[in-house]
Amino acid sequence: MPNSLFSRLRFVLVETSHPGNIGAAARAMKTMGFSELVLVRPRFADALRQDDAIAFASGALDVLENAKVVETLAQALDGVQYAAALSSRLREYSPPVVSPREFAAVVAPRADLQAALVFGSERYGLSNDSVMQCQALVNIPANPAYSSLNLAQAVQLLAYECRVASDSGPADQSASRIGFQGELASAEQVEGMYVHLEHALVELGFLDAANPKKLMPRLRRLFSRTGLETEEVNILRGIAGHVIAACKK
Ligand code: SAH
Repeated sequence: MPNSLFSRLRFVLVETSHPGNIGAAARAMKTMGFSELVLVRPRFADALRQDDAIAFASGALDVLENAKVVETLAQALDGVQYAAALSSRLREYSPPVVSPREFAAVVAPRADLQAALVFGSERYGLSNDSVMQCQALVNIPANPAYSSLNLAQAVQLLAYECRVASDSGPADQSASRIGFQGELASAEQVEGMYVHLEHALVELGFLDAANPKKLMPRLRRLFSRTGLETEEVNILRGIAGHVIAACKK
């Protein structure tokens, strides 16, 4: 398809150390239908021909063979109108932050837009300077305590989101608005939480067991709109437990 995202999205890897990651990134791109790869100052000048790059690329050697190597990010972004820097870290100075899905939803429908995704080095990520050369910062929602993905896996994830958005038009963005999503609590866990919460509110004197009115139904209505996660249920139960303990003192 002319002007499909597959022909106008470039993957840029900045100062990559491990040739294996370059090969794995090429493979990740090709599995999702992308082919334009540009390397900015890889640690090894011959990175594209190193054994690890070739081994990890597996059947995506054509992506490696057609890849370009350049000296600066500005050269890599030649002709690009909308570049997004990939970073696991949010920064004080940065272009607007979007999720992978939002990035895909912006670029997929705009047949006129030349776009790029810019990935940092394994060791140092991207410099502030590189980030500021981009129009968006893409943060992959992840475990806040361990949020740095392997380079090629980050490439895979973005390539996947872009493929899905290209196949099905603008993606539904609502799920990504709140970022990381944990496991949804089971009905049983939620019911257990209501019992605990009610107990705490009675202890506190906020809920009159003899005349409860509509407090619990109101709270149920409130929480039912949120899609409670197991961890959130545990937090609420922890609060209830502390309220009860404090009231007994
Ligand atoms: N140690 C580096 C991270 C290296 S991971 C640091 O602290 O920044 C290599 C690259 O993968 C990163 O530069 C980034 O482009 C991408 N990446 C890894 N995890 C990511 C995440 N959670 N969100 C966005 N990009 C990520």
